[in-house]
Amino acid sequence: MKKMLPHLKPYLLQILAVVVLVFVSVIADLSLPNFLSNIINYGVAEGNTGYILSTGGLMLFFALISIVATIISGFLSAKVSMGFGKKLRSVVFNQVEKFSLSEFDQFGTASLITRTTNDITQIQQFVMIFLRIILMAPIIAIGGILMAYRKSPQMSNIIFVSIPILIILIMIIAKLAMPLSKSMQKKLDRVNLVMREKLTGIRVIRAFNTEDHEKERFEQANRDLTTTAMKMQRTMALLMPALMVTLNLTTVALVWLGAVQVNIGSMMVGDIIALVQYVMQIMMSFTMMSMIFIMYPRAAASAERINQVTDTVPTIQNKANAICGTTLKGQVEFRNVTFTYPHAEQPALHDISFATHPGETTAIIGSTGSGKSTLINLIPRFYDVDSGSILVDGIDVREYDQQALRAKIGYVPQKATLFKGTIGGNIRYGKNDATDEEIEYASKIAQSNDFIMEKEHRYDSDISQGATNVSGGQKQRLSIARAIVRRPEIYIFDDSFSALDFKTDSQLRAALKNETKNAAVIIVAQRVSTIMDADQIIVLDSGEMVGIGTHHELLENCDVYKEIVSSQLSSEEMQ
Ligand code: ADP
Ligand code: MG
Repeated sequence: MKKMLPHLKPYLLQILAVVVLVFVSVIADLSLPNFLSNIINYGVAEGNTGYILSTGGLMLFFALISIVATIISGFLSAKVSMGFGKKLRSVVFNQVEKFSLSEFDQFGTASLITRTTNDITQIQQFVMIFLRIILMAPIIAIGGILMAYRKSPQMSNIIFVSIPILIILIMIIAKLAMPLSKSMQKKLDRVNLVMREKLTGIRVIRAFNTEDHEKERFEQANRDLTTTAMKMQRTMALLMPALMVTLNLTTVALVWLGAVQVNIGSMMVGDIIALVQYVMQIMMSFTMMSMIFIMYPRAAASAERINQVTDTVPTIQNKANAICGTTLKGQVEFRNVTFTYPHAEQPALHDISFATHPGETTAIIGSTGSGKSTLINLIPRFYDVDSGSILVDGIDVREYDQQALRAKIGYVPQKATLFKGTIGGNIRYGKNDATDEEIEYASKIAQSNDFIMEKEHRYDSDISQGATNVSGGQKQRLSIARAIVRRPEIYIFDDSFSALDFKTDSQLRAALKNETKNAAVIIVAQRVSTIMDADQIIVLDSGEMVGIGTHHELLENCDVYKEIVSSQLSSEEMQ
């Protein structure tokens, strides 16, 4: 929690105002029982209507001050806490944006979402409650005790019996509730995770009829959260009765002993009423303070979870004088690259070396899980290598400014991702200031112009969230167009032709050929026909490079390649 305090700094003035207003309203509140006892003692008892009216008027005035101060301080504390929440959310968001993929793997998407939303809400609420209620409590407690003492020192001793009892009761309840409130956030994380998986995987779940399984999984997470929340609420529910019992017993004691005092004439009736009211205020204030025990652990746990995000130093960062421009163009070279995923036992890539040349196509083939996507993800520096180096245009990727490096690359991921918006907008992701002509040109190369033109709104057609309203192949072609429109020096296609039919596949590659005369093209593919005519083919097998060369060379000397080819082509085609 402490680490977040600097973000409250801009609100210092407002917080100060809240403190002053709270002080004013408490003082006004504390004066009311005193007025009341005076009215009873000197007004009602002596039938002095003038006194009743004037003191009553004064009482109304003080009540009004208290109300106005409370309203303004409520308004200000809402402003402070909401502004604080907004600031925290943007801090977390900006931090997450700096994360490299290892950090995303580490936290998990669901947890990052809970942290940015619910965890921050917890803290925001705590600040609000703190400013509006908890801050008030000590002032009421001290002021109330002083006022009660002034009325009757003797009778006030009763408070010193009942307050310790109340404190003990609160401590017991807090002790029970604290661990529960702490564990709530983790359980909420779990609910979010299951819910998220259910929503994104709805097609698979329906297709495999695993709704029951998913339902059970969700029920379980939900039950877990509910049980904990209910346990906590049940414990908290004890607080009010405990308070009421102590409060009422104290009142009884006050009235009882007070009656004796009134009888012997050492106290007035109004004083007893005032005392009862003071005791109520004091005990209420202790209950308010006890809220801190219940709210703080949850807010602190949330703060801890947010700090984990903000404290994480992204593993991939720009160097002090990162390189932005280069003289060479369109070259990628791997030198003895070995790479292991964080927390993985074995390297996903082992001792990979090869080089591409401008205008040439390099293809990567291998069974699933052999490390093709991994290899490609190292070029935009999504991860850093364990050993060896990757050179882009002759310079190590770690020396580059990340933006400058990625600006060189047109990347088409294995899982085509489009954003909610329009078709044109999605292609424009590749180049902000692309003209309509550039966009059309790029989508012609990507063989997507035809199906776009068939749509009613053409380039302004909607893409729904998750791009569910276009087919897999259309999605692939749109994300290829997005890469082409930026006219990069390095084209990377991660299995991006898998959903295209043979004809479209070869048309696309032929059209692309004209565009990539000075660029490096790296194509990952499953189909031999897609890569057969590449200038060099790299064969991967469990992270090792088991062959490199042209189609014909590899047929001669690479068994793994031969196997892949013979499983796909007839012997006639192989010749
Ligand atoms: P391919 O693209 O050839 O099918 P990948 O490069 O995706 O294979 O995966 C290579 C290996 O690395 C696989 O064994 C996979 O389990 C592992 N792997 C892939 N992504 C991650 C990740 N984010 N964290 C840990 N291991 C991963
Ligand atoms: Mg892959």
